[in-house]
This record gives sequence, structure tokens and C-alpha cells, in this order.
Amino acid sequence: MTTAILALQGAFAEHGAMLDALGEPWFELRSAADADRGFDRLVLPGGESTVQGKLLREEGLLEPLGCRIRAGMPVLGTCAGLILLARSVVGRGPDGALAEGPGTFSTLGVAVKRNAYGRQLGSFHASAPLDGGAVVPMSFIRAPRIIDRAPDVRCLAEVDGWPVAVQQGSQIAVAFHPELDGDPSIHELFLGL
Ligand code: GLN
Repeated sequence: MTTAILALQGAFAEHGAMLDALGEPWFELRSAADADRGFDRLVLPGGESTVQGKLLREEGLLEPLGCRIRAGMPVLGTCAGLILLARSVVGRGPDGALAEGPGTFSTLGVAVKRNAYGRQLGSFHASAPLDGGAVVPMSFIRAPRIIDRAPDVRCLAEVDGWPVAVQQGSQIAVAFHPELDGDPSIHELFLGL
């Protein structure tokens, strides 16, 4: 099994370190040529979802990766990665007004609100049980909030009554950065898909 880590922008290197610790082979995916290499899973890292979406289009990656996600390839989206997967995204446009639009891959049945935890003071730590089991640490950095979800989207963890980790079939998405806290639980769940 090999995991591709989308490495166009953002916090991709830390995912590699986590997969190394778990003994999972991986490579950084940057171009359409990389997408032709053999891989079985995909990680979409945190960063800036608007920039990542633009680069995905420019690199011709949106279609091939979207096809594979829709076909059931396991995918882990963290923070901006969650926004890329979401079916609907609420955020501020260039004019500063709130607007709702379709997501980038639009494969995950959730609506998210970008930067919902504030702009300046948007980073914080929390912890919560994962899927009713062990408590995992969570670092939030200008995180999106999952404001709605389809009935078949399972909530794996919540903080302050909001879902922060969800699963729908072979897609797992989290609002926080599981690669930053040294706890492998989310990556283990993903590798077990
Ligand atoms: N605020 C970022 C966005 O909207 C996500 C932040 C993150 O990935 N840490 O894309």
C-alpha cells in the first residue's frame, strides 16, 4: 500500500513524518504525472483551501483525484483538506461578504464554514474521545466548522457540540491538524480503511 500526500501548499511534510512513524510508504503528489504513479490512498493536508483549489485546477489534478475519491479510494482531509472535500462551503468573498458555494471535490456530504473560529485568535487546542475511544489531542488553526452533514456522515468526535471529525464511507475529514500533536490515532483510522 502507498499513500499519496498532496503537496501543492500547506502542512504536508508533517503528514509524511506521521506515516513514516506508522511504517506506511508515501510520496508527495504535485503534478498530473505524479497522479499516474501507483497509490492506494490520499492525504489532503491543511493550508489555504482557496490556493490549493486553484493549484489543483492549474495542475490538472482536480479531475483525476476527484474520480478516484468518488470511486472509493480512501482519503484523509485535514483542515483545508476538509474544505476541499466538502460539498458546500461558506466563506467571505473578496468583497468581505459571506457567500456559500460548492466545494472543490464536493465528495463529502458536509457544509463547512471557513475560518469559523475567528481570524486573529483562531488557533487553540482541545481534546476529545475519538469514536467513543481514547481521547486525542487536537490543534485547530483558523479551522473550518462543520455546520451541517448528511445523515450518512458519521461524527467521530466533537468539541463544544460541533463535529470536528467525520467519516462518510472511505472519506475521513477533520477540522484540526492531527499531524501536529504526535498522536497517530487519526492516521491509524485512515490506514485501516
Ligand atoms: N483557514 C484555512 C482555509 O480556509 C484552513 C486553515 C488550515 O488548514 N489550518 O483554507
